[in-house]
Amino acid sequence: MKQVLESLLSLQDIDSQLQELESLKGDLPQQITRLDRGVAETKMQSETEKDKIRLYQTERAKTELEIKALQGRQQKYQAQLFEVKNNREYDAVTFEIEAVKEEIDKKESHVLELMDAEEQARKKVEASEASIKTLEDELAERRQVLEMRIQETEAQENALQARRDALVKKVQPRLLSSYNRIRQAKHGVAVVPVVRDGCCGGCFKQLPPQRVMEIRDMDRLILCEVCGRMLVWSEKESQLAAS
Ligand SMILES: [Zn+2]
Repeated sequence: MKQVLESLLSLQDIDSQLQELESLKGDLPQQITRLDRGVAETKMQSETEKDKIRLYQTERAKTELEIKALQGRQQKYQAQLFEVKNNREYDAVTFEIEAVKEEIDKKESHVLELMDAEEQARKKVEASEASIKTLEDELAERRQVLEMRIQETEAQENALQARRDALVKKVQPRLLSSYNRIRQAKHGVAVVPVVRDGCCGGCFKQLPPQRVMEIRDMDRLILCEVCGRMLVWSEKESQLAAS
């Protein structure tokens, strides 16, 4: 049991060091995720506007063809005006011409609307492309900083990880999962030595002398009644307290 408890204490030490290294990266990974998402969303917005532009263009081309056809009809009616035989026919043809003109007007304003909408969409695309560029520059910069930090700490991290892997094998799975659970609940610290004059090294509450003696024996797992952390005896700590 003593060995297991010592392994747990070493594991705690390694995990704390790994946590320290991880915190050197700060919130860079989250920032990168956020920026990545921003780029993807903006690209999608830009694509939506580009789709709209294509629709507007198709619709405009179709309307322009319709206008041409109407203009053809208008010319035909204009020519007919010279061939009318009486006022009634003249009025009928004039009526047709007016109707066609009105329709051409309507279609021409529709073309203007489409051109306007296309212009708006184009501006949105430009704005999106600009912000994509900004986001991507920022992203590249953050990635570089993170890469540097990772490189700086990689060797250290790997060495710690290797020691961790070896230690984990010495601890029973059940104990290991309690260790992980307590660590998660207690800000990353699950195993603490007895410090000062018999205090829990996690919450610093005074432990009963009888309990301290039991912990010193290291023949069973003892949890702090106040904070729930695993208590172990460390010669180093007890010497610190004595000096
Ligand atoms: Zn405690």
